[in-house]
Amino acid sequence: MESIDKTIYVTQPALPDLDEFIPYLRKIWQSKRLTNNSLFHQQLEQELADFLGVKYVALFANGTLALLTALQVLRITGEVITTPYSFVATTNSLWWNNLKPVFVDVDPVFGNLDPKRIAEAITPQTTAILPVHVYGNPCQVELIQEIADVYGLKVIYDAAHAFGNNYKGQSIMNWGDLSTLSFHATKPYNTMEGGAIICHDEKTKKRIDYLKNFGFADEVTVMAPGINCKMNEMQAALGLLQLKYHQKNIEKRQIIADIYRNELKDISGIDLLAHSNDLENYNNSYFPVFVNEKVYGKSRDDLYFFLKENGILARRYFYPLISDFPSYRGMESAKSDNLPNAIKMANEVICLPIYPDLDNNQIEKIIDLI
Ligand SMILES: *Cc1c(COP(=O)(O)O)cnc(C)c1O
Repeated sequence: MESIDKTIYVTQPALPDLDEFIPYLRKIWQSKRLTNNSLFHQQLEQELADFLGVKYVALFANGTLALLTALQVLRITGEVITTPYSFVATTNSLWWNNLKPVFVDVDPVFGNLDPKRIAEAITPQTTAILPVHVYGNPCQVELIQEIADVYGLKVIYDAAHAFGNNYKGQSIMNWGDLSTLSFHATKPYNTMEGGAIICHDEKTKKRIDYLKNFGFADEVTVMAPGINCKMNEMQAALGLLQLKYHQKNIEKRQIIADIYRNELKDISGIDLLAHSNDLENYNNSYFPVFVNEKVYGKSRDDLYFFLKENGILARRYFYPLISDFPSYRGMESAKSDNLPNAIKMANEVICLPIYPDLDNNQIEKIIDLI
């Protein structure tokens, strides 16, 4: 089937050569072991732990189920402090656990949960903090941990954007009690759909493995009302193959990001995302720019629709804010005077296309249009 769709999407999944995938499939067919912690699943958990530099990786069918389960593993109750500036799955995972999200504003530079605002939002019902490393920039993990230690809170990082990113010489996912990942097709590392929880000790890894498999601790023991969100062998096999090409894909993304940065930096009214000095191995999972309407002369939405008319489907990540969706907008913490920085970012941001196969002509076209 030839593709005739000339639209340039915000991302396009990196895929290895199909011929290289066939031997993996053959192995699955021969073994007749399709899921339930089989060989590729075990191998991928080990290879990812080594690659990322973390102790334990528990694989999931997708990133949202990893978030849902992470909250169950730590038996989080009551209220959870979180950010409105994220993909909606972050807050939805709280809703599905019957937890009350409490929105706190983000810092104006990186768009990450502002530690200075967290303490003000704590009540006797607060049990956890759920921050997001937005666009892969690390949250202020030391300050967040200090607050968590003082108030006795758990910290779960939604690290969906931070696959492979290091902070001060080690994986950003070594911070917090748990971190979750997404391997969705739109992410820099994909298994079509997929996800993971990162944890730091064997006992927690075991509890995660029970919970993602109905709660079975052994043949006759169900330790809790678990769920089924296991990654299957086809996803795990693809993950193993994808990992071989990941570094090359990241290098291609870096080249594209460098071109964008060079050519957009002098356009007044188009502001680029800052990068934390402590960030290493940056994956360039997104390329957000911020449109300052007064200076640029056109609004973010003007630019968005103009690009769209010209076949470029950039995305307004993250707009609307999660706190503006019907399920959450009535909450006290969703009020606009509580979230000025998040509102400003949501109104100015546009994520430009970035993926390994984006070619120079396409990049030039996008830059010319801007
Ligand atoms: C992609 C993403 C998710 C959801 O992951 P899925 O694998 O699509 O379920 C959660 N949080 C953030 C911040 C994301 O970007």
